[in-house]
Amino acid sequence: MKLLFLGPPGAGKGTQAQKVAAAKGLTHISTGDMFRRHMAEGTPLGKRVKRIIALGGLVPDSLTVEMLTPRLDANGYILDGFPRTRPQALALDEAVGPEALDAAVVLEASEEVLVERMLARGRADDTEETVRNRLVTYEKETAPLIDFYQARGIVVRVPGEGEIATITRRILAAL
Ligand code: AMP
Repeated sequence: MKLLFLGPPGAGKGTQAQKVAAAKGLTHISTGDMFRRHMAEGTPLGKRVKRIIALGGLVPDSLTVEMLTPRLDANGYILDGFPRTRPQALALDEAVGPEALDAAVVLEASEEVLVERMLARGRADDTEETVRNRLVTYEKETAPLIDFYQARGIVVRVPGEGEIATITRRILAAL
């Protein structure tokens, strides 16, 4: 099974992708985690993306696609945080073909809950200004992908507020 977890920052994509990947035996691929690893290890890519991520912007598509593509597992995956732009979505189709995704799970939560969760987790890019930028970036660049995948009939909307285990059950039931 090939899944995409889509939704605004703070919706719980990472947490839920991890749970669902474990439940279904899928590879969890998070571009955010990959970038954080590069930054922690001080690789050339990590140094290059540090400022962009700190400001809440998006890493250029070419760098992101280049990092992500070799990780795509033919046996199935959950993509968490990729694609985030239309060019990335087209790159995914090109890399895998028409069967790139069976479902796009859209986690939904109110802006109040999103901001609250992001400020609570205290990641380096979770300061108030960065959080605002990330929400704006999401609306502008990533939210249009919901329509993109809706046109393929693969969008599954799941309410992302409430307890972690409850949300995991909702996702598994919806798939
Ligand atoms: P995340 O852990 O998914 O919230 O990602 C953290 C940050 O990494 C984002 O705010 C972006 O700056 C960057 N990032 C992660 N995934 C992507 C992507 N697919 N395209 C561009 N930038 C990304």
